[in-house]
Amino acid sequence: MSIPFRLIARFALALFALLLPAVVARPATAAPEETTITEVAPGVFFRKAQTEPVFTGCNQGFVVFRDFVLIIDANFPGQAENVIASIRERTDKPIKFVFDTHYHGDHADGNMQYVKLGATVVAQERSQPLFQSKGADGFEGAKKNRASEYGALSYEIPSLYFSHKLVFDDGDQRVELLFLGHAHTAGDAVAWLPKHGILFTGDACVNGAFNYTGDANTESWIAVLGAMEDLGVKTLCPGHGEMGGAEILANQKRWFLELRGAVKAGIDKGLSLEAIKETFDVPFYKEWTGKESKAQTENIEHVFKELSSPGKPLGLKSRLHRHPHPHPSQPVVGTVGSKR
Ligand SMILES: [Zn+2]
Repeated sequence: MSIPFRLIARFALALFALLLPAVVARPATAAPEETTITEVAPGVFFRKAQTEPVFTGCNQGFVVFRDFVLIIDANFPGQAENVIASIRERTDKPIKFVFDTHYHGDHADGNMQYVKLGATVVAQERSQPLFQSKGADGFEGAKKNRASEYGALSYEIPSLYFSHKLVFDDGDQRVELLFLGHAHTAGDAVAWLPKHGILFTGDACVNGAFNYTGDANTESWIAVLGAMEDLGVKTLCPGHGEMGGAEILANQKRWFLELRGAVKAGIDKGLSLEAIKETFDVPFYKEWTGKESKAQTENIEHVFKELSSPGKPLGLKSRLHRHPHPHPSQPVVGTVGSKR
């Protein structure tokens, strides 16, 4: 009788798998209190930043080419020093390029630390006016608020811009910087390693409750996430949170689809923004991030503005927001878990 039972069990399991939702949320809080560095493929490193109890900065990548190192996201100035030290433990090749996925300070304020070493900073061209305006203002603010870290440092913006694609390829490593559209900011770009199926997304995709939408166009962002899915991602290295696979893209996309759907339903019922915020509930968000969707007030407010005045570009005109992540009031430390 054991064979038929096994068959029945297998059938039941297969049926259960079919009934599971297409997107399976994975907990995003595997080790938020640690900074870890993983060699994702030979010479390709992912540095996952500590986010709890203190938000230290963004996730980063670095890729060791035959003759140089390319860094993906500069991070804050203090964190940049730690990143340089971590690279030096692995290779003495010169750091020649730093790719800023976007202009936010936790991704780009450390640029000068690499420029000092002779590196060139690269970004998508639509980010240039953002660096020159909101980025520069934010840096000046940080010099006052975080004087011990920023001190007398000068703001260094990218000096090399591309429109849709920039390729680094020495025969061993290949990294394609791709602009796929307005997502987290108007000038987001991602780093795609087609040989390995590895995608570094910056904040165009995060894994956890890290979304800031103040510079975003969420409708376009959903399309950008679809374009990322079309790449055939095997390993996804997000701007914040743990690395994983293509399911992170699906989770990120699902959040914006359900967020927009819930806000639109409220608007269609004639509810005010306050009433929508009070009754807001997207259960999937808690499954994915461990946090209540209702607490994402910045996201709800932004989407309400988008859907209340369709056609109006948000982004460049949106309010100045320096700390695009959910711990704006917390101090940022200059040390990382891996160095403790
Ligand atoms: Zn950001």
